[in-house]
Amino acid sequence: RTGSDPLLKVESAVMQFGGLKALAGVDLDVRPGTIHGLIGPNGSGKSTMMNVLTGIYKPTSGAVVLAGDRRLDGRTPSEIALSGVARTFQNVQLFREMTALENVLVGLHHSFHGTIFDAILGTPRRRREEREARARAMAILDFVGLGPLAQVEARNLPYGKQRLLEIGRALALDPVLLLLDEPAAGLTAPDIAELTTIIRKIRDAGITVILIEHHMDVVMGLCDRVSVLDFGHKIAEGGAREVQADPKVIEAYLGS
Ligand code: ADP
Ligand code: MG
Repeated sequence: RTGSDPLLKVESAVMQFGGLKALAGVDLDVRPGTIHGLIGPNGSGKSTMMNVLTGIYKPTSGAVVLAGDRRLDGRTPSEIALSGVARTFQNVQLFREMTALENVLVGLHHSFHGTIFDAILGTPRRRREEREARARAMAILDFVGLGPLAQVEARNLPYGKQRLLEIGRALALDPVLLLLDEPAAGLTAPDIAELTTIIRKIRDAGITVILIEHHMDVVMGLCDRVSVLDFGHKIAEGGAREVQADPKVIEAYLGS
């Protein structure tokens, strides 16, 4: 594999709901090490694409291929997560009664292999793994700026911090590809600035990002490349500025 090969390739993805094609044959190439924007008016198919990529929906037809040769379509969400694709949801989905630290530990759980015997008896192996997991979870919380809030229950965190915690929990999967569905929705300007910095840090750490976002300034500031959906079709693709100036894109947004 060379550096220019896509990390993720979507070929002619179709997602049909009854008479509606939420995706009507969409191709997508996501290059490694980039932040790839996915934009479009409401109902254009962005979240549906996320759900196809993460196995929540099985596409009606088409293919999703990770790193050249690993087919993702048809696999379960947990198989896809273990392949290195993590996500956040358009609406915050945290364990509200658990602390920030515990929420990240849930994400880490898969990478520790203690047996039920270790768990019940609290063997030295088990205790060591728990120490390692907590250290990793703390490092992730520090990375997303939540270190000082590790012991706060998720429901008591301000909304902007809950969104960062969701990102932290996704990072616990140690992904190669992170999908963010409207992470800036409902955030204040200072929260958006903090989020933007963290998304850039994630990319700089070598994790490829697909970003669904309707705040155009966030898209412009972050995305290396942008694909635009409208009624389930990809209508434009290119650099952020190029796409923003595209008459087809302007028309799609004006019409919505
Ligand atoms: P976006 O995220 O771009 O706003 P969505 O992907 O959520 O758009 O939705 C695209 C279209 O597919 C919309 O018309 C929506 O109503 C429809 N849709 C999405 N999910 C489902 C579903 N599970 N069942 C039926 N229709 C759906
Ligand atoms: Mg959506």
